[in-house]
Amino acid sequence: MRPESLYPLFAPVGSLPGLGPRLAPLVEKLCGPHVADLLWHRPTGLVDRRYMPLIAAAPEDRVVTLRVTVDQHQRPETTRRPYRVLCSDESGFLTLTFFHAKGDWLEKTLPLGAERIVSGTVERFNNTVQMSHPDHIVPVEQLPEVMTVEPVYPLTAGVTPKVMVKAVKAAVSKAPILPEWIDAAYLARQGWPGWHEALQGLHSPTSELELSGESLLRQRLAYDELLANQLALALVRNSMRKLAGRSLKGDGSVRAKIIATLPFALTGAQQRSLVEIDKDLAEPFRMLRLLQGDVGAGKTVVALLTMASAVECGAQAALMAPTEILARQHLATLEKLSAGSGLRLGLLTGRDKGKPRQAILNALAAGEIDILVGTHALFQEDVAFHDLALAVIDEQHRFGVHQRLELAAKGRAVDMLVMTATPIPRTLMLTAYGDMDVSRLDEKPPGRTPIDTRVLPLSRLDEVAGGMQRAIAGGAKIYWVCPLVEESEKSDLAAAEDRHKLLTEMLGPRVGLVHGRMKGPQKDAVMAEFAGDGLDLLVATTVIEVGVDVPSATVMVIEHAERFGLAQLHQLRGRIGRGSARSTCLLLYGHPLSETGKARLNIMRDSEDGFRIAEEDLKLRGAGELLGTRQSGLPEFKLADLAVHGDLLATARDDARLIVETDPELQGKRGAALRTLLYLFERDAVVKTLRSG
Ligand code: ADP
Ligand code: MG
Repeated sequence: MRPESLYPLFAPVGSLPGLGPRLAPLVEKLCGPHVADLLWHRPTGLVDRRYMPLIAAAPEDRVVTLRVTVDQHQRPETTRRPYRVLCSDESGFLTLTFFHAKGDWLEKTLPLGAERIVSGTVERFNNTVQMSHPDHIVPVEQLPEVMTVEPVYPLTAGVTPKVMVKAVKAAVSKAPILPEWIDAAYLARQGWPGWHEALQGLHSPTSELELSGESLLRQRLAYDELLANQLALALVRNSMRKLAGRSLKGDGSVRAKIIATLPFALTGAQQRSLVEIDKDLAEPFRMLRLLQGDVGAGKTVVALLTMASAVECGAQAALMAPTEILARQHLATLEKLSAGSGLRLGLLTGRDKGKPRQAILNALAAGEIDILVGTHALFQEDVAFHDLALAVIDEQHRFGVHQRLELAAKGRAVDMLVMTATPIPRTLMLTAYGDMDVSRLDEKPPGRTPIDTRVLPLSRLDEVAGGMQRAIAGGAKIYWVCPLVEESEKSDLAAAEDRHKLLTEMLGPRVGLVHGRMKGPQKDAVMAEFAGDGLDLLVATTVIEVGVDVPSATVMVIEHAERFGLAQLHQLRGRIGRGSARSTCLLLYGHPLSETGKARLNIMRDSEDGFRIAEEDLKLRGAGELLGTRQSGLPEFKLADLAVHGDLLATARDDARLIVETDPELQGKRGAALRTLLYLFERDAVVKTLRSG
């Protein structure tokens, strides 16, 4: 249960003063649904209103606060002209101008003869000093409220700075004093303020320096967020580990049969990974291992041989893929690789319904399926294994931590192997996986020919399409990738459909189309046609991004390549260059292309090394954007900036490890405070894994 002290922070944003039914949804869209989300809405600038000169001395380029007497109202003759209010002080005159203003409101706010405080930016025309639409107009008694430093928040259409400042202020006022969760000695050494003080400071900055990531209060708040992240991961890991594992020691019989029929020898990296995995499997603990390898490095075989070991022990294995296409592809690949080994494979996706689905479930429960391949459908409640001992998760950063837990809960002491092709730099890896054991396939299977990558402007599209005609005549198979056009899937689809139409007109009927809105069987049919001999060119949205394996495809055209993350481009390009034939990748860019955009595409042209590409991209763009976090499912931080707080992440990891060693159930005094921290950052699922969660 969430601690009561946090209740006010998890009230809806609409409960805050000033956020009625019109504004609340806007603020919710910008920040999030809860009061707490406003606490994390950091100011990105500030306005210093403490400078109070006389009118004659007010400079043009600076926000000032002035004390003036209202002399005269000049109503405009037409609404196109501004309403003017003439004011003065002992040094000179000031004209306040308002466009589309309500006269009676102005007469009330600026009564004739009264003294008022106005704050804003002045402009000088000829000999007049003007201020249009002052930010504040208040009676003299309220001077102290105006003469402050105001935080400036990121806004959205319809939400004014005033509304935002007021809402955040109200949110901060609801923040309770919470027990300290940071180790006292560490806190003292860093010289950091307490949470409540840091939070208040964050929203009442008095200098630019305080806004920066290096300020003590930002460091403190960033550490809180990173600690919550690392602690959650450490607890998940621990809860998996502490459940007694089982020792899986296969006799090697199934594996030997598979290896005997492989058309290739395992690479050194594949063999090394298998040794590491076998060691984990044999131990009486649970395995939690990441198998990281660039596209085409050969992860699938390693997964299959690992699963074979589990089956040798009389248990079952599951392989989970992020998409339907991938699940089917995996099944097809595994069937091919394991033909003759006696392994019984099955498939379960969201598409299976009714009787066929029930038949699969029955076979699974009866132990008549050795390896079940599937999508998220594997999580469904009525999916029961006979004896699940190993779960392999492909591209797992698309799944959340709690989904990992759910799959693990389907078996007895389930060992986990997570496969990823994303070349995640070390820092990001920590935030996504915590302290996971890693096996790396850092060596590609032999016999690959490098891909010839070229960068061209979209204006040469006709020429490119003509080139495709020649390539097809020469026997090539081509992927043609259309980008995300806008936010909506619909326009995305429209672009792909347009392109399909155009290319069909130019190249004839052997042009196919596959996109995310197609129904499963439709998608499969198109993919199968392309993999077989039915299609020469496949127009696709990014549904082909991961895993799809058509080794005979040798050409890839990517439109608006500049709109993709480099990691994504790398994944896409990995679909070609899988055979021994020479492959070509054309990256088409739209105008205008920024310097960074150009540099990024050039990295793609110059390298095929996923790690190098990722690191260069990180240098050019920064961590947040690198993987297109929203797409990748990697955590997005609100207060921490990994470019600045990378060291804190490492400390948080060590801290989390120590906490889990000394107080794994978070029972002690600090443990209780840490629970609050986890709830504060909405890691509720993790707290529930604790004994008295
Ligand atoms: P990944 O999943 O890591 O992107 P795959 O497992 O799909 O890579 O393998 C890519 C291709 O390389 C497949 O066609 C696979 O059969 C082949 N392959 C895997 N291991 C080897 C190897 N040791 N030698 C030659 N080819 C291999
Ligand atoms: Mg693969």
